Amino acid sequence: SAVVEVRGLRKTYRSVRWGTRQALDGFDMTVHAGEVHGFLGPNGSGKSTTLRVLLGLTRAGGGEVRVLGEPVPRASPRIARRVGALVESPRFFPHFSAWDTLALLCDAGRVPRTRVDEVLELVGLRDRARDRVRTYSLGMRQRLAVAMAVLKHPDLLILDEPANGLDPAGIRQMRDLMRALADSGMTVVLASHILGEVQQLCDSVTIISDGRRVGSGSVADVLSRH
Ligand code: ADP
Ligand code: ADP
Repeated sequence: SAVVEVRGLRKTYRSVRWGTRQALDGFDMTVHAGEVHGFLGPNGSGKSTTLRVLLGLTRAGGGEVRVLGEPVPRASPRIARRVGALVESPRFFPHFSAWDTLALLCDAGRVPRTRVDEVLELVGLRDRARDRVRTYSLGMRQRLAVAMAVLKHPDLLILDEPANGLDPAGIRQMRDLMRALADSGMTVVLASHILGEVQQLCDSVTIISDGRRVGSGSVADVLSRH
C-alpha cells in the first residue's frame, strides 16, 4: 500500500523581489510501505517544497497529496504524530551529550526515557552517548539528528539531505542506519541532489526536475540508465 501518494502537485511562489516562480508543475510521487525511497533532483528542482507540502508546512496550489492514507493538509493530528522529519540540519546544544539531548526531547514530548538507549542503539551512537555533541563528527551529528526524528516511533520518516557532506565511512554508517530503520518497519523518504548517495542508501527512487517527475522505480532499474 502507498504511504505517500502525490498526484499533479502544483506550487507557485509569488514574491515582490523574485516575481512568480513555479516550483512544482504537476508532480507525481508514490512511496510504498517499508521502502527507503530516494527523492533525487538538482538544487532548485522542488524537493524541499514537496517535503514541506507533505508535512503540512506549506499549502499546495493544486493536486492531491495523501500521507498514511489521509489527505494533506486536512490530515488529523493522529497522522502528524506518525510522521518524523529532519528537514534541515538541526541546531544542537553543543555542551549536551547525545544522551542529554534525547532525554530532554523525551521529557518535552512525554516519551519515556527508556527510549533514549533504544534510539542510540539504532543509530549506532551508544558508545559515544555520554560525550558532548561538540566532539562529534558531522556523521555522528547527522545520526543524532535521525535519532531525534525517530524518538516517537514514526511510521514515515522524511529526511532532507541527511548525507550532505559525509565522507565514505559516514555514508556507509548512514546506509546501515537506513537498513535498520526499514527493518524496524519504517518507511523513509530521503531527498538528495547526489546520484551516488541515492544509489547507496535507497531501494527505490523518484527523480524530479523543474517541478516534474522525470523517472521512478527501483534504484537498480532507474539509475543504471543515467
Ligand atoms: P530543492 O529542494 O530541490 O532545492 P526547492 O523546493 O527548495 O528545491 O525550490 C524549488 C523552486 O522554488 C526553486 O526555483 C526555488 O528558488 C523556489 N523557491 C523555494 N522556496 C521559495 C520561496 N520561499 N519563495 C520563492 N521561491 C522559492
Ligand atoms: P548518576 O549518579 O549515575 O548520574 P542518576 O540517577 O543521576 O545517577 O542517573 C542515572 C543514569 O542516567 C546516569 O548514567 C546518568 O548519567 C543518566 N541520566 C539521568 N538523568 C539524566 C539527564 N537529565 N541528563 C543526562 N543523563 C542523565
